[in-house]
Amino acid sequence: MKPEAFLVFSGGTAILPDRLVPNARLVCRAGRIMAVGTAKTIKVPRGAEVVDARSHFLSPGFVDLHVHGGCGADFMDGTPEAVRTANRAHARHGTTSIFPTTTTGSPDQLDAMLDACTQVQSGWQVADGARVLGVHFYGPYFAKDKTGCHTRSGRRDPAASEYRHYFARDIIRIATCAAEIPGASAFYQTARRFGCLVTCGHSNASWTEMERAFQAGVRHVDHFWCAMSSVSSLRSRFGTPMQGSMAEFVLMSREMSTEVIADGYHLAPELLRFALAMKGADRLCLVTDANRALDLPPGEYRFGPATDGTLFRSDGHVGRMPSGDLASSICGLDAMVRQMARATQAPLPQIVRMASLTPAERAGVAPLVGSLEPGKLADVILLDQKLAVKRVFIGAQEFDWKSGKIGYKAPP
Ligand SMILES: [Zn+2]
Ligand SMILES: [Zn+2]
Repeated sequence: MKPEAFLVFSGGTAILPDRLVPNARLVCRAGRIMAVGTAKTIKVPRGAEVVDARSHFLSPGFVDLHVHGGCGADFMDGTPEAVRTANRAHARHGTTSIFPTTTTGSPDQLDAMLDACTQVQSGWQVADGARVLGVHFYGPYFAKDKTGCHTRSGRRDPAASEYRHYFARDIIRIATCAAEIPGASAFYQTARRFGCLVTCGHSNASWTEMERAFQAGVRHVDHFWCAMSSVSSLRSRFGTPMQGSMAEFVLMSREMSTEVIADGYHLAPELLRFALAMKGADRLCLVTDANRALDLPPGEYRFGPATDGTLFRSDGHVGRMPSGDLASSICGLDAMVRQMARATQAPLPQIVRMASLTPAERAGVAPLVGSLEPGKLADVILLDQKLAVKRVFIGAQEFDWKSGKIGYKAPP
């Protein structure tokens, strides 16, 4: 399609943030959405290429704030090839905007990851899959006792001399640090100055520490209930009286958002219902937290860098550490959307909002992506009645979703 030509989606039910529009028509030009309405109200411009969307849902492309890799690649492998492999894999699952997420690792590994993401972002074309809208700087600033499946050797406390030049690259849009470790407040303030969504994760922080973190800019907590504090986990730090934890702080503060890993293996359905009822669809994000085993057969893989990441096993459903503990998901956002719909029975606009507009708003990219609204990038996916992804358009260009299966052999 020529960039100036019209692309029109016709028929099907459009999923807007607040309602469904049956018999919809969506007009796009030059990679952007120009008009959204019904076939009755909007004419097909002359010479337009028309996509027949009848019997499908027209959904905004998904936005993933927390994702480590897919199809054999982990973003921490630190090469453009790894980044493109994972981004293509996630595009097959409906993700059109992606925030590659760091793990714990050495400064050199983090540098390589940021370099690779910058390179892929600046030369992006539709064959590369999901568009990099920024990096989620996640590891290495975790609490010692909450590293989860991340290597402990790659964990450390934040030092401005290290992170200053990561932020200076101007690609980090989401920044995580455990609230209770030395240097956290200064890290949060720097991240806030760079316009990041500032988040606390892999942390055993108390209510008081969260209050301080909030003052310094924290507005989000990573994967709710996973690698975070609870009233009982804080007893080992503070004894009695028992302390409020990250969970209570997030549930009580309207301004705080969070995310759930809705793969059916991390959280039971009632926890998904509870999280939605407590936070609402505008403060709860669906994230994949997917690792490199996404779309690959069961077997042994490394979480984080291919050279020295943690070994885990994919059982074909989820990643597991040798101890049996969870080692992140192997699902795409489409699976999370379906699981959330099953578990909560919430209206479809709300479900899709949690995988598109809400994460876009929290990461500060909602003027560009996250909903089917005029002026935004024409990131549109066609879902069938069972919410399976059938076709993917990024900036009004169709992604050849079979190419999302092109694998990649991680260096040994
Ligand atoms: Zn994590
Ligand atoms: Zn993660």
